[in-house]
Amino acid sequence: MKIYNTLTRKKEDFTPLVEGKVGMYVCGPTVYNHIHVGNARTFVSFDVIRRHLINSGYDVTFVSNITDVDDKIINRANEEGRTAAEVAEEYSNAFIKAMDDLGVMPPTIRPYATKEIDAMIGTIETLIANGHAYEAEGDVYFSIKTFPEYGKLSGRTVDELLSGTRFDVDPKKHDPLDFALWKAAKPGEPYWECPWGKGRPGWHIECSSMSAKYLGQPFDIHGGGVDLVFPHHENEIAQSECCSNVTFCNYWMHGGMLLIDNEKMSKSLNNFLLLKDVLANLDARVLRFLMLQTHYRSPMDYSKQRLDEAANSFERIANTLRNIDWEVEHADLFAEVDVAAIEKLDVAVAAGVDSYVAYMDDDFNTAAALGEVFSIVGAVNGFIADGLSGAEEVKAAQAAHDAIVDLMGRFGIDMAEESDETAGWPAELLAFAKDVAGYEGDDMLAAGEAIISKRAEARKAKDWGTADAIRDGLSAMGFAVEDTAAGSRLSYGG
Ligand code: AMP
Ligand code: ZN
Repeated sequence: MKIYNTLTRKKEDFTPLVEGKVGMYVCGPTVYNHIHVGNARTFVSFDVIRRHLINSGYDVTFVSNITDVDDKIINRANEEGRTAAEVAEEYSNAFIKAMDDLGVMPPTIRPYATKEIDAMIGTIETLIANGHAYEAEGDVYFSIKTFPEYGKLSGRTVDELLSGTRFDVDPKKHDPLDFALWKAAKPGEPYWECPWGKGRPGWHIECSSMSAKYLGQPFDIHGGGVDLVFPHHENEIAQSECCSNVTFCNYWMHGGMLLIDNEKMSKSLNNFLLLKDVLANLDARVLRFLMLQTHYRSPMDYSKQRLDEAANSFERIANTLRNIDWEVEHADLFAEVDVAAIEKLDVAVAAGVDSYVAYMDDDFNTAAALGEVFSIVGAVNGFIADGLSGAEEVKAAQAAHDAIVDLMGRFGIDMAEESDETAGWPAELLAFAKDVAGYEGDDMLAAGEAIISKRAEARKAKDWGTADAIRDGLSAMGFAVEDTAAGSRLSYGG
């Protein structure tokens, strides 16, 4: 497996520290608002990466924090006349629900910053004792001069970093790039007691302390959006490597930004769409599907048009699964089997699965891997086009079906419900079946079949009035009757 490492700017062979195990840390959200679709992209990317590691046989420990103390949370609490803890609780719960809605696996460990303060104070004490940090009026700063490798992750020298960023002149700092490990509490702010008086941790120290506490140091993979490379991750490296004199983490992975009208979606630019609002009118699987179409490191354009196109492509896969099920159910088991066609399909499925894995092993190329799903879809569509004959053809079609469901499942997209042809059919079909065909049960498929055979009967008897009334009743509910080689079937278009 190959992983692009931001630290070395190369794709490298992935070798975990302990054979068969992976320790992975992904920076979690600062919980002062609902997350937007851009944030969601980064979390989905690392979920797909994690799933591929698991599917490749690794035992993955996935740690992802919640930053529940921060200036933005305190500001929001003050605006709303609530405590910071109340604001943080509301949005951390909303975040957990949003991740669940998106099909993101919960982390193995989800540390909350406010519950890990002792570990952070410990890290800061060590840094002061080692001469890498200094106290100034209740604040504590990291002294970047004491870490000559500062800048190695972003690939910039200290001089470049200084000229590329605007810094407020702060008389408490020895150097403009020095950053806060601990902030003295202002009146009305949440605080913890510590050797330097009342205060709270800086953002960067949280991730250094929590990752080392739960994964040890070094650990295998650290992830986040590319906007976190500087200063957040650069500072995490400085703190952690100065604290314990060993490498912090071996592979740094960064996800590209989600863009809207060519600009990064962000709260500060006010061009964001909240994930919860987008998912109110959209199958979350379609959003994941859209995200998979772009490599995780590339910027990704988000637009209504791209979302609609993704919905269409997604529906192509779903529709193929439903068609396979229908053909399997209506196969002519006594007809002659096309051995050559079976062999061709088997080869196409096996090749698709192999290439899928190879693409995912190559730095998680989801876009190309998704292309392999479509190649299986194309092959099986051709295979079932004129119906299924004999048990062997049924078996081959089912194997293709299962491969598609499996590969989509590895992306975290559950297609199992697509196997139920009647998922989403309106209940009024049952009442209609009772009216026109005297059907009494509650099985949608049987109700549909009863209606169709009633229509066929009417047509045979040249009772056009009844036949037309059935067709019109069906189409009013969103159904069409498709006539196929194996007989008529209902299709539902919503
Ligand atoms: P934050 O709560 O701002 O720290 O962001 C949480 C995660 O979302 C971080 O990993 C960010 O890198 C990521 N993120 C923020 N904006 C975007 C965006 N427009 N596209 C992709 N990821 C983003
Ligand atoms: Zn972090």
